[in-house]
Formats: sequence, C-alpha cells, structure tokens
Amino acid sequence: MSNTKHIVIVGAGPGGLCAGMLLSHRGFKVTILEKHPEVGGRNRPIRMQGFVFDTGPTFLLMKYILDEMFELCGKRSADYLQFVQLNPMYRLLFDDRQVNVYSERAQMRSELDANFAEGSAGFDQYIQQEGQRFQKLFPCIKRAYSDWKAFFAWDLIKAIPYLALNHSVFSNLGRYFREEKMRLIFSFQSKYLGMSPWECPALFTMLSYLEHEYGIYHVQGGLNQIAQAMAKVITEQGGNILTNAPVAELITADTQITGVRLADGTEILADEVIINADFAYAMSNLVKPGLLKRYRPERLQKLEYSCSTFMLYLGLDTRYELPHHQIVFAKDYHSNINNIFNSKVLSEDFSFYVQNASVSDPTLAPAGQSALYILVPVPNNSSAIDWQQTCEAMREQVLDALESRLGVSDIRSHIVCEKMLTPATWASAEHVFMGATFSLAHKFSQMLYWRPHNRFEELGNCYLVGGGTHPGSGLPTIYESARISARMICQKYGIAFGDLKEA
Ligand SMILES: Cc1cc2nc3c(=O)[nH]c(=O)nc-3n(C[C@H](O)[C@H](O)[C@H](O)COP(=O)(O)OP(=O)(O)OC[C@H]3O[C@@H](n4cnc5c(N)ncnc54)[C@H](O)[C@@H]3O)c2cc1C
Repeated sequence: MSNTKHIVIVGAGPGGLCAGMLLSHRGFKVTILEKHPEVGGRNRPIRMQGFVFDTGPTFLLMKYILDEMFELCGKRSADYLQFVQLNPMYRLLFDDRQVNVYSERAQMRSELDANFAEGSAGFDQYIQQEGQRFQKLFPCIKRAYSDWKAFFAWDLIKAIPYLALNHSVFSNLGRYFREEKMRLIFSFQSKYLGMSPWECPALFTMLSYLEHEYGIYHVQGGLNQIAQAMAKVITEQGGNILTNAPVAELITADTQITGVRLADGTEILADEVIINADFAYAMSNLVKPGLLKRYRPERLQKLEYSCSTFMLYLGLDTRYELPHHQIVFAKDYHSNINNIFNSKVLSEDFSFYVQNASVSDPTLAPAGQSALYILVPVPNNSSAIDWQQTCEAMREQVLDALESRLGVSDIRSHIVCEKMLTPATWASAEHVFMGATFSLAHKFSQMLYWRPHNRFEELGNCYLVGGGTHPGSGLPTIYESARISARMICQKYGIAFGDLKEA
C-alpha cells in the first residue's frame, strides 16, 4: 500500500517514532527530523566508557500497548526486543522499613502482612475496585478529544462516576488502607506523572493497579532499545529518519502548516506535520510569533507543569547488589512533596529513585561493575533555583544519601564516569519547557478536551504526539497519542487504519 502524502514528524522521541511506524506501514511517505545525533528523545541511551544508561524511562508499564503498536505494523515486538518481567517489581525504602513490591499476588499479600499492622486486608479490594475503574476509564482515555462530541459517547457517560472528581489519589486510597505508609505504596506512582499524590486526580489510583495487573518490564539493553526498534521498523517500511536535523520553524500559510524549515535553512514541504517536540517548547519557539491565540506565550507560562528531575548517571568500578528498581522515601515525605510542588525549594531530606539495572542486565556495565541511575524529583524551572550554583552541592547531597540511606559505602572512590542533568539542562539541551520532565500537569483542567488536542486546534495540517497532548505523559499513553493522531490522519485521507473503531 502506498500513497503520495508526505508526513513530516518533528522529533524522534517515543511519540514521533511510534507515529512514524504506524503511518509508514500505511503507505505514507514519512520523514522524521531529530535535532540530536540519535533517536529516542528522553528515551535514548547515554553511553559512557562501556556503561549504558537510559536517559529517562526505566519502567515499562502496560507492555501490551507496545505490543499492539508493533502488531499494527504486522510485526511482533518480541522479534525486536528482549523483555524481562521483574518480580519483585521494585523495593520501597522508608525510614523504618523496606517493602518489596511483587507482581505475584500471594507474595505481595505476605509482604504487606509482614510490614503493616493492618496487613493485606485492603489489597484484594483495591485490586478489584481499581480494576473496575480501569476497565471503565481506559477505553475513554484512548479516544480523541478533538471536539465536544467526544463527551457524549455512552462509555464516557457511564464512566463518569469512576472519575471520583472530589478525590486525590491519596484521599481515594483511604477507601482501602488506613496507614499512611500503606497508602504511599499505592500512591507514590503519581510521581510518574510528575505530580503530588495529594493533588493528582483520583482516577490515577489505577497506576499502581496497572503495575500489579500487567507487571513492570525491563528491556535488555535498556528501554532505549524500544526507540531503536521503532526506528528500525520505520526504516524497514521505507520511512526516512534524519538526525542532526533541528527544525527551526514551522512554515505556515495563514494558519495552515505547509512544511518546516531546518536550522540550516532547508525547507521540507509536508501534507501533514506531526509535532513530537515538547508541546510548550514547540509552540514558543517554532511557531511564527502572533499566530497562536489559545497557546500564546503568556498563556503557556500560566499553565501548570509537572515537577522536574535532578539526574545522576554513575559508572562504578565495583558491583553493588542493590535491587533493579528502588525508591527511597524522604523521612518526611509530605514536606518533601510540598517543597517540590508548592514552596518550589529543595529539601535536605529528599526522596529519590535508584536504578541498578546491571544486576539483571549484564549488557549495561562491564563485568563486575555497576551502572547507577539516580533520579531526584525537584521543582521545575518556575522556581528561583539557580542550578549552575546549586548542582555541585546537590550532587554531594545525593552521594551522601546513597551512602547514608542505602549503605553504598565509599561510592565516591568507585566513580569511573558520570553525567548530571538538572532542570536547567532539561530545558536547554532537551528542549523541555520549564524543565518540566513530565510535561503539562495532569489536572482535570489540562486533560482530555482541555489538553492540547491531538489534531491541533490552532493550526491546520498539524497533529501532536507525546506527553504534552492527550492522553498524557508516560510511554503507554504516549504510544496511544501516536495511535490517535495516526488514526485521524488515515481517516482524513480515507485510508483504513485497521484497528478498533474510532471514537
Ligand atoms: C527522567 C525521566 C524518567 C521517566 N521515566 C518514565 C518511566 O519509567 N516510564 C514511562 O513510561 N515514562 C517515563 N518518563 C516519561 C516519558 O515516557 C518520557 O519522557 C518520554 O521520552 C517522552 O516522550 P515524548 O515522545 O513525549 O518526547 P521526547 O522523548 O522528549 O522526544 C521529543 C523529541 O523531539 C526532539 N526535538 C525537540 N525539538 C526539536 C526540534 N526543534 N527539531 C527536531 N527535533 C526536536 C527532541 O530532541 C526529542 O528527541 C520519564 C521521563 C523522564 C524525563
């Protein structure tokens, strides 16, 4: 199947690659333009002296959605990627106990019974009721919200009670669990969206359910392999990926996009342009000033954004037997969250996440050595923090915390190579607006119809994919954004998309 329509995609992150894969399979001429020398965006690898790190995503949730994207191209993901399901999925470390979180239900019940006075009594009810919420809401999340008609779909009307509009994730969990730490086990996942569990809408209580129901996967070589595999499929299908090709401007005639202009002045004409670059960055930098009304620069500044992350990637000349994924909670978790999202200051007592994937994947570090990825949630760039001044002190604090909280002794003497990313570098090098690594906040007024539409409402021939459009940040939802936009482009040209009915 081939047609002559040319689709230009700005950015080879997970959203752009997935859209490119779906559309090149349907015969469109696809050109992806990526400013970096390598594909993947925040999902690309960092390679240093024999160590490999994922830049961003390390948890693959809802693997079946990724599988579906390959199936929609007539392929099997397993022919391109080697998946490993993790059990335990991760370890949670509190000031007074550690809890291994298992996808295997009996193990999970025993772990809760061993660690909490209330035991596992609420766990089965949690799984059962959040499962129902997921079954009702996910079909609604997968549809396009490009106009109000989407709200009159019968499945959405039936799902409204499951939105629990007056609750946050944390308060909603009070239905199942009494103890605060118990609730944290099932609510810290709000951080996957860069949000506080005390503010994240209750519908996201299903995030932890999704882990327990569908598991958490690692991919041998790192999750960056997913981006590499998608790029391979695109090339096999005749698509074209140009790296080191920064787009400087969208070419428009009135409000219709007709192509893009690269930084070197080259013009590439397109029938449709898909924007995968971070939404607010793209609207502020790639669109002719004065063209946008709803998403004009002053309004973009006023929207609410996710938190950011301070990152350290450490290549170490010794092997640490830390778990594959571990989350360390601040002793006063609530204050730490408040500092990140409300006061917008750094905490001395901070939560952090450590990935030590080389324990289950020998390809990531030389034999007998370790590749540690450390992520500290911090305020986004609406704070007054000067990262150039602060980053060295923050690095020292993180290394101290690794020693004091995880007993990783003498870490400084084992560092062979390292890389640091701060909210300032997310913004400058990765083009992430406000350094908000998980994009626009996922509050109701910025979701569904109120998130920038997949068929972008302000410019003709323009579609959005990635964390800044509907359904939102996180690999599975980003793949869904690609499916929604690709399906709408197919509909426009009368080409069968080949999956379930469109909303
Ligand atoms: C630290 C971190 C941890 C995360 N962990 C997880 C996780 O465990 N699981 C999960 O599901 N999700 C996770 N996420 C969230 C999300 O899945 C990733 O951020 C994902 O990579 C976002 O994909 P995207 O397609 O929206 O954008 P990006 O990955 O940012 O891709 C956009 C692409 O556009 C390119 N670009 C930008 N401007 C231009 C231009 N002018 N011209 C050409 N190209 C341009 C960029 O270089 C980039 O390649 C994490 C994110 C971060 C930052």
